[in-house]
Amino acid sequence: MNNKTVKAFTALSMAMMFTYAPAIAASVNQDDAEYQSWPVYSGEDLELDVTPQRANFRLWAPSAEAVRLSIYPTDRNSAASEVIQMNKSDNGTWFVSLPGNHYGEFYTFSIKHQGRWLDETPGVWAKAVGTNGHRAAIIDFAATDPEGWAYDRGPKTDNITDAVIYEMHHRDFSVDHSSGIVNKGKFLALTEQGTHNTTGEATGIDHLKELGVTHVHILPSYDYNSVDEANLPANQYNWGYDPYNYNAPEGSYSTNPSDPEARVREMKEMIKSLHDAGIGVIMDVVYNHTADNDKSNFSLTAPGYYYRHRPDGSYSDASACGNETASERRQMSDFIVNSVKYWAKEYHIDGFRFDLMAIHDIETMDRVAEELKKINLSIFVYGEGWTAGDSPLPASQRALKENVSKMDGIAVFSDDIRDAIKGHYSREEDRGFATGKPGNEETVKIGIVASTAHPQVDYSKGNNSKFAYASAPTQIINYVSCHDDLTLTDKLAKSMPASTEAERQRAARLAQTIVFTSQGTPFMFAGEEVFRDKKGVHNSYKSPDSINAIDWSLKHDNAEQYEYYRQLIKLRKSHPAFRMTTADDIARYLVFDKVDRDNLISYSLRDHANGDEWKEIKLVFNGNAEPVEVKIPKGDWIVIAEDGKLNADGLHAAKGGKMTVAPVSALILARK
Ligand code: CA
Repeated sequence: MNNKTVKAFTALSMAMMFTYAPAIAASVNQDDAEYQSWPVYSGEDLELDVTPQRANFRLWAPSAEAVRLSIYPTDRNSAASEVIQMNKSDNGTWFVSLPGNHYGEFYTFSIKHQGRWLDETPGVWAKAVGTNGHRAAIIDFAATDPEGWAYDRGPKTDNITDAVIYEMHHRDFSVDHSSGIVNKGKFLALTEQGTHNTTGEATGIDHLKELGVTHVHILPSYDYNSVDEANLPANQYNWGYDPYNYNAPEGSYSTNPSDPEARVREMKEMIKSLHDAGIGVIMDVVYNHTADNDKSNFSLTAPGYYYRHRPDGSYSDASACGNETASERRQMSDFIVNSVKYWAKEYHIDGFRFDLMAIHDIETMDRVAEELKKINLSIFVYGEGWTAGDSPLPASQRALKENVSKMDGIAVFSDDIRDAIKGHYSREEDRGFATGKPGNEETVKIGIVASTAHPQVDYSKGNNSKFAYASAPTQIINYVSCHDDLTLTDKLAKSMPASTEAERQRAARLAQTIVFTSQGTPFMFAGEEVFRDKKGVHNSYKSPDSINAIDWSLKHDNAEQYEYYRQLIKLRKSHPAFRMTTADDIARYLVFDKVDRDNLISYSLRDHANGDEWKEIKLVFNGNAEPVEVKIPKGDWIVIAEDGKLNADGLHAAKGGKMTVAPVSALILARK
């Protein structure tokens, strides 16, 4: 384990945007031209192509002076049964074919570089691995398919704006005893039906179905470095932003890390279970850096090539984790594209969330989206449109939030709405719109229109971005918190120290109401529907379960909070007015009202927006600690939300006129 690579700077990396002037970029790294001239192998049969009759090995290692393949009988603690010299082949690859049936065996590569043999590596394309991923495994993938896998499909989702995304870590979700789940912290947790807490409320997959989310976004689930798979009883925790084998599942989430088939089969079983429940699976992918530098699988097969460097030859570090990959080089670009294609095809993954996406170049991200759409039109791609430090890649080529309109089929997180609603992500005591701090109104409005151009939104008053960077709402993910930084619960506690828990829950409801009714795609952190916290820990990437686990007794204690969230999700899913797909529609159908005080936003979705059955939906958000009186046009209204309560089918009727918006709450009205 390498400490500096396990998200040590995550609060910085995930939330901070760097849009440096490209001062460094003008002088292209000296290595770059040389690397760009290396041969490229674009075939998808790299490293292992196996049938019952033979195993073909093809390693891309253009600078190697020689390459050895070692075959092992077990995943560890055994000597090689065979060591074979590989032969130089096409396009920078080395090849050898072994006759016979090799299922059940393990292998590594080693290259000779500048006269010395480098450490053994499972390669960069290991699709199955043993304990801790040090040896790649030869398995029959057909044997890993759950029953009915051939007919398994994720939900058909026409537009990303129809999705409701739930971000989850496997351990957070199931490891606490209150989950009632048997396979705690495992892929299989999400295959268990009928689980509940001690007071009888549903947990696990039943909870997800009841809540109504459309997609689960799982934190890194490829094989990562930090958790020792040989010592699972130690109950180590890590978010997993320390990639080791990109194309094999993480062993600690399987019931047996030493059985290479188990992690594959169990992850597929999890996905099938979610698909059977109508829920899609989005995977968090971290191609922007590796856990190790010189000892990574990239470095041990093609030293230098896969990374960017500074002019002095050191690793550049836009990830703030010790290195950054070089997607502008074709073999790296192909690696990313082929890797996500592989997960989409072999595991039926429905979407990808790119960590620090702006470390990648726009062209690669465009290829990712284009190739995935060829597999399944319902696959979504979104990412963090920022880096965590400066990069040699010119800003104009980075997949930045500000460049999202240049990318087709990619969405970015809106840090604009996030910080405007709750206050600055890292200044704990800072407040936002929902907690009564004036000056955030225009930035919240930027979030409501999904960062698209709107005649009533003044981008010059935006706190973060100063222009309408999205050309469509399908390019924006709205959220108020995620695994990074304080949970919403903790943020409210730190920024409202004199408040009661009831007041903080009220603020959370207002905050999420703004997110879930905004244009764009809503995203929430698992457990916020039961008001989970992380005991005030900002960066819990390796904190114990006692910090990270969701206590499901909260679902009982905070039943009203949960019901509010459930109704909020139902409201959004029932009404296309919240899910417009073009900037033109938003500019036409979403009309802000003039208001004359701070911390108040009022707007309408008019004229059956986006084909909605409701002619008009009126939303008023009051971030003040006092009630505010507003004038609503006279008519036959249904009150959907008021005074911290929400029912998607309506609370009661109202006639409009003067109405009171309770402190820290949303008033939502609808008329046919
Ligand atoms: Ca691992």
